Amino acid sequence: MAIATVNPMDGTTLKTFDALTAEELDNRLARAAAAFRSYRLTSYDERADWMRAAADVLEGDADDLARLMTTEMGKTVKAAKAEVLKCAAACRHYADHAATMLADTEVEPAAVKATRAYVRWQPMGVVLAVMPWNFPMWQAMRFAAPALMAGNVGLLKHASNVPQTALYMEELFRRAGFPADVFQTLLIGSGDVEKVLRDDRVAAATLTGSGPAGQSVAAIAGDALKPTVLELGGSDPFVVMPSADLEKAAQVAATARCQNNGQSCIAAKRFIVHADVAERFQSLFASALAALTLGDPTDDATDVGPLATEQGRVDVEELVEDAVGKGATVVVGGTRPDGPGWYYPPTLLTGITPEMRMYREEVFGPVAQLHVVEDIDAALELANDSDFGLGSNAWTSDPDEQERFARDLEAGMVFINGMTASYPELPFGGIKTSGYGRELADLGMKEFCNAKTVWVGESAAGDISSSE
Ligand code: NAP
Repeated sequence: MAIATVNPMDGTTLKTFDALTAEELDNRLARAAAAFRSYRLTSYDERADWMRAAADVLEGDADDLARLMTTEMGKTVKAAKAEVLKCAAACRHYADHAATMLADTEVEPAAVKATRAYVRWQPMGVVLAVMPWNFPMWQAMRFAAPALMAGNVGLLKHASNVPQTALYMEELFRRAGFPADVFQTLLIGSGDVEKVLRDDRVAAATLTGSGPAGQSVAAIAGDALKPTVLELGGSDPFVVMPSADLEKAAQVAATARCQNNGQSCIAAKRFIVHADVAERFQSLFASALAALTLGDPTDDATDVGPLATEQGRVDVEELVEDAVGKGATVVVGGTRPDGPGWYYPPTLLTGITPEMRMYREEVFGPVAQLHVVEDIDAALELANDSDFGLGSNAWTSDPDEQERFARDLEAGMVFINGMTASYPELPFGGIKTSGYGRELADLGMKEFCNAKTVWVGESAAGDISSSE
């Protein structure tokens, strides 16, 4: 895939970039390793000052950066600006809390025959982040802010269609005052990821993206014995029970499916509705989807812009055509508009069966599928009949049902009476083929820390224990 900015509004190639040569790549790896040797010794206070400066830079650049993101991948400018501000908030969050999150974890010394015993959370070294285009700043920042606060050094291999946003990330940390080479962007294709991952100077990796990309990186990292975090695809269920606030659920359902032009791993994709309220919910949901404005993402009145790539739209169309060919009914949308740009309308399908591809595959565009079930057992069975296990949503005001969904939905995240979202305060990640490990919160930061056990005995002659 060429490393280039191609405008999804009209398909014009605006800027192309050469990939790093082997020599340039080696030079950057050497600089990253050198940077780690001194950066790991900086204090949390120093890192926090730089991280807060990064937040200031982001806020100052928010309007220009948002327009750049829209030009590279088509999200609406208002969504892009909100994403930039969210990144700034995450920088401040980790600046404020990293020292506490990574404070030594003390262990009762008598239990381990020590005078003091604790776990020290130390940075691992140079961490490679392979990132997707769909939240081009947020995906990269939710890796970078905790990793840098922990004392790691970051290498970003961003998606090939967002090179300018990727280069901005490197510039951001430089302008914020971080020491040279603490965060570098590598303009390389996916074929060069293996070389970086196997390099002795790289300690660990994180990948957010598709299943096949995750499998490839996990296999190489496994062979090289390097830890990884994988955030992969999802096909989140959105269950609506009779006690739900149907108007609110339908409005949120439309947003949850069509946010980011339908290209979000945690978008609700499978709507599973109790038969008692199915007709009413379908009508409200269809109206909410039909009311969304499809069009120019630079216009503040637009809700849904173009898909990021031409192939992305072809993939969505093929999944819809497959379902319709096998008997699904189109309630809303379902046909691409004429004219330039990779637009696809908010779409609602009913009559989905297991023979249809979208029953199992992720639809990375604004296409919702609605299923009707008779009771909570059937809702859970259908919700869990998925290879994915990222986020999940359940709408009910019954406390027993809320507990049942929290307990039995097979997912990394359960949001009740709301849509799945990411917050710096909450762990984010999935199970099954949605990946492993967690981002955000303290757990996300500790994924790239060495949990070093430190045991201190008597300085003078005392009890010397020997056991494993
Ligand atoms: P993708 O094709 O897997 O690309 C993601 C990143 O991986 C890009 O930087 C890409 O580089 C690189 N890549 C692709 N194949 C690779 C390989 N074999 N080895 C190493 N690197 C490889 O995914 P996408 O289409 O951009 O993103 C959409 C997918 O990401 C969806 O499935 C979505 O659900 C998932 N996603 C998950 C989360 C989460 O947190 N769980 C968040 C956002 C998106 P190139 O661009 O150079 O190919």
